[in-house]
Amino acid sequence: MKITDLRCAELGNHLMLRVCTDDGVDGYSQVESSKPYLKDPILRLRDLIVGKDPTDVERVMRGIRQRGAAKPWGSPVSAIEMALWDIAGKAAGLPVYKLLGGKVRDRVMVYNGAIRDLEHDYTPEGFAAAGAWMRSLPHGFKFVKMAIAYHGDMKKVPGFLMGDLLDEMVHGWPVAGTISERGIAHVVECVAAMREALGPEIGIALDCGPGFSVPDAIRLARALEPLNPMWMEDLLTGDYTPWPGADLYREITTQTTIPIHTGEQLYLRQSFKELIEGKAVNIVGPDPCDVGGLAELKWIAEYADLHGILMAPHGTGDGLFGLAALVQVSATLPGNFIAFELPTGNPPWWFDIVEGLPDPLVVDGFIDVWDRPGIGIEFRVDRAREYLADEDRGFFDN
Ligand SMILES: [Mg+2]
Repeated sequence: MKITDLRCAELGNHLMLRVCTDDGVDGYSQVESSKPYLKDPILRLRDLIVGKDPTDVERVMRGIRQRGAAKPWGSPVSAIEMALWDIAGKAAGLPVYKLLGGKVRDRVMVYNGAIRDLEHDYTPEGFAAAGAWMRSLPHGFKFVKMAIAYHGDMKKVPGFLMGDLLDEMVHGWPVAGTISERGIAHVVECVAAMREALGPEIGIALDCGPGFSVPDAIRLARALEPLNPMWMEDLLTGDYTPWPGADLYREITTQTTIPIHTGEQLYLRQSFKELIEGKAVNIVGPDPCDVGGLAELKWIAEYADLHGILMAPHGTGDGLFGLAALVQVSATLPGNFIAFELPTGNPPWWFDIVEGLPDPLVVDGFIDVWDRPGIGIEFRVDRAREYLADEDRGFFDN
């Protein structure tokens, strides 16, 4: 079998990839949300994969892996990798999890990170309302995640910082300010209110930065310890920071009992080497759509497990092909796998143009692993075509 074409189209909030072959078997994958500017970088990889056997996934990847970098520039390479696994699975008549070593669990845990339809105000009352709403969701999440401090706009609450906020960006930059006494107390009050509203059965993870200085991160972590969060994520780096910052994370991790989490923006196993070998964090969270794909994520999970570090993958924004790929790889990960962040369909018509997902998708906080070949979901092409832009009209053509 040989690769004959690589196509790319914008569908809703996502760039979709289609890798075509001379065998009539095609692979699909997606880029993490809101990155239409990656279309050209993706298509520039076409000549490097056409003519190769897509079922020799690693051999194809050795030819393109050096063209990626930290988020968002790892996306084109990562998306091709996932489409290759889809082809290899379909060609073999096996779900991708079988090709990645086989499943060790029949259902995978997910947590609510992306579902946020409460425009919360940054007050204890707002956090309590968010907790009550997440508790009321039908998914039965075992734990949920909330944005605090520099992740989101709490950093703009008057008096939160001692001085000025250096970065107005949504995705901040390391050391964006100095948190005031009032600011530390405000975070604790908000998380305590949400903790109360969630009730005793639901855990709470906190997405925190980037933006902290090391001392501020330690001060806040110690203040939050009595509330027992699942983890504190991306305090120093994360989102779009193009380096891991392992030595600085280690200072925080050794100073608090709260598990410290990072890694969603990093590309390739090499970027996790110091984080893992240096025991710089307790949990790593690569995104398959940014780290280099499913096999790369699995390798990192195994290496982390060897070092006593846990794995909670990032959630590929709000895309259903990313969701399916996460289910496949998560089924194969060792016992250090906690849960992945649940991607949602955006816009909601995504659920109409895809078939193969369980319905309901999430039961008691878990998704059942399905057994169809490849990543196991397919386009309803007749419906999906309607949402293509004019320039992408040929995406589904033979
Ligand atoms: Mg995050």
